[in-house]
Amino acid sequence: MSGTMMQKQLTISSLIEHAERFHAGTEIVSVETSGEVARSTWGAVGANARRLASALDSLGLEPGARVGTIAWNNRRHLEIYFGVAGGGRVTHTLNPRLHPEQLAYIVNHAQDRVLMFDSTFLPLVVAVKNHLDTVQHFVLLGARDDEAATKIDGLKFYDELVASGDAVYSWPNLDENTPGALCYTSGTTGNPKGVQYTHRSTVLHSIAGNQPDGIAISASDTVMPVVPMFHVNAWGVPYIAAHTGAKLVLPGPKLDGESLAKLIDAEKVTLSLGVPTIWMSLLDGLEKTGSSAASMTRTVVGGSALPPSMIPTFRDKYGVDLVHAWGMTETSPLGTLNQLLQKHRALSEDEQARVRLSQGRAPWGVDLRIVDENGALLPHDGETQGNLQICGHWIVESYFGKDESALTEDGWFDTGDVATIDSDGYVIIRDRSKDIIKSGGEWISTVELENIAIAHPQVANAAAIAAQHEKWGERPVLIAVKSKNADPSEQELRDFYNGKVASWQVPDRVIFVEDLPLGATGKVMKNKLREEFGDVLMEGK
Ligand code: ADP
Repeated sequence: MSGTMMQKQLTISSLIEHAERFHAGTEIVSVETSGEVARSTWGAVGANARRLASALDSLGLEPGARVGTIAWNNRRHLEIYFGVAGGGRVTHTLNPRLHPEQLAYIVNHAQDRVLMFDSTFLPLVVAVKNHLDTVQHFVLLGARDDEAATKIDGLKFYDELVASGDAVYSWPNLDENTPGALCYTSGTTGNPKGVQYTHRSTVLHSIAGNQPDGIAISASDTVMPVVPMFHVNAWGVPYIAAHTGAKLVLPGPKLDGESLAKLIDAEKVTLSLGVPTIWMSLLDGLEKTGSSAASMTRTVVGGSALPPSMIPTFRDKYGVDLVHAWGMTETSPLGTLNQLLQKHRALSEDEQARVRLSQGRAPWGVDLRIVDENGALLPHDGETQGNLQICGHWIVESYFGKDESALTEDGWFDTGDVATIDSDGYVIIRDRSKDIIKSGGEWISTVELENIAIAHPQVANAAAIAAQHEKWGERPVLIAVKSKNADPSEQELRDFYNGKVASWQVPDRVIFVEDLPLGATGKVMKNKLREEFGDVLMEGK
C-alpha cells in the first residue's frame, strides 16, 4: 500500500475531542435554570460528555436509540449533544413551546427511550408522561431533588448519572453515516416531520458553514447562541464552537432584551445568533440598560426576514453588523448567508445595507435553483421569482420513519419558499408559498409589506396576510401592533405605503391588535391570523 492518505470518519465526537484536547481551558458560561451563572470549560464538557456516553452504555441503551431533551441553552444540554451522539445514539431535541399533545406525538413517533429535561419542564413532563409509550428513563437535568423524585417513579438525576460514568471512556469508531441528531419541524400544517442529521452531515455543515464568508466563528470569539438548542441544533453553533474552540455563552431561560444586554456586557460576547424578534427586544434592552454592547461585532439573523430598519440602527448606534441567513429544519439549517463580495466594498454604507438585506449566497456544499409550477428552471436574474429548491450534503432526503423520498424526481428538495436569485447568487426570499398573496393574476409579497410597516415609527410589529376577496381572489390586509404610547390611524398607515409599493399592493385594511400570535419557534403564525381575519373583506363583514 503506497501513496494513500489516512481515512477518518467525520464524527461528532471528533469535534468535542478536538475542543477537549486543544481548547480545554476555554470557558463555557451557562445561565442555569435557577438564574445562577455557572462556569465550565471545553475540557470539563468533553469529560462529562464521555462520562454520559458510558453511563448510557451502562443503562443498556442500544446504538441508534433516541434520547429526547426538553431543555434551555445550557451546559448540560451541550454535554448531551456530544455525549449522546458521540456514543452512537441520537439526540432528539424537543420544543417545549409545542402543545403537550403534539409533544407526546413526537416523542412516541421518534420512540424516545430516554427523556432528559430541565426542572422548568418538570410539570410538563409530569402532565404528559402517561402518554409517552416508549420512554424508559426520565432524567432531570441537575443534582438530586427529593421533591421532584416524588413526582416521577424512578426519576434519575443527570449529575448522578454523569458521575457514575467512566471518565476515561473512549469514543467508539462510528461510521460517519450514523445518525446523531433528530429535530422535528414545527408543523404549522399537519403533523410535525422528523429530520435526522448524520455525523457526516453535521460535521460538513459545521466546516462549510463556518468559512470566513459564512458564520466565521473563530477561537477568539465569544459566541452567544440565542437561537434555542431545541430548534435545528441552535443552527449548528454548538458543533461549530467545539470545532473552533470558541468561548460559548449559553443564556438559559431568560431571553428578554435586558437579560441578554447584561450578559453580553458581562461576558464580552462578540457574536450572537437569533431570530429578528430577539434583536428587536435586545434593542429595547440596550436602551433600558444604557449598554453600548461594546464587545459585539456582529449578529447572525435568520428564521424570518430581517426588517431593513434594523441594519442602520445596529450599525450606527452599536457598531454591530447584521448578517442575514436563511435556512430550515430540513437544511441543517444553513442554506444561504449574506457576506459582501469584493465589488461591494466600494459602495456607500446605505448601498451595502441594501445588499445585506438579501438572505445571501449558498456556501460550498449546497446548490440552489428556482423553478416554476411545472418544475421548469427559471433564470437567476434577480427579478424572476419561483419556488426555491436546494440540494447538498446536509439537506434532508427522507423524513424520519417515512420510506418515501422527500425530493423531486431529479433529487432536489422543494423548500416551500418563493425566491429570486441574482447573477451573483444572492437569494431574496419573497415569501412562503402558502403565505404569498395572490391578487388577481399578481403576487404580493407579505414580507415586503411587513418591512414597510415595521419601519413606521409608531408600529411595533406587523404581519400581512391574504384576505379573501370577491373580485380579486385575495387582497392584502395588515395586522399591526402599535408602539407603546403611539396611536396611528388606519389611514395613516395605508398612506405610508404611497410611493413605496405599487398602489394595487397597498393593504386594503389595517387592523390593530395587542399582540401577534407566535408559534413554537417565535415566528408569527399567519395561518392563525388568516383564520381570524381572512374574511374581513367579504360582504357583510
Ligand atoms: P418552521 O418555521 O416550519 O418550523 P423552520 O424553522 O425550518 O420551519 O423555518 C424554515 C422557514 O423559515 C423557511 O422555509 C423560510 O420560510 C423561513 N425563513 C428562515 N430564514 C429566513 C429568512 N432569513 N428570511 C425569510 N424567511 C426565512
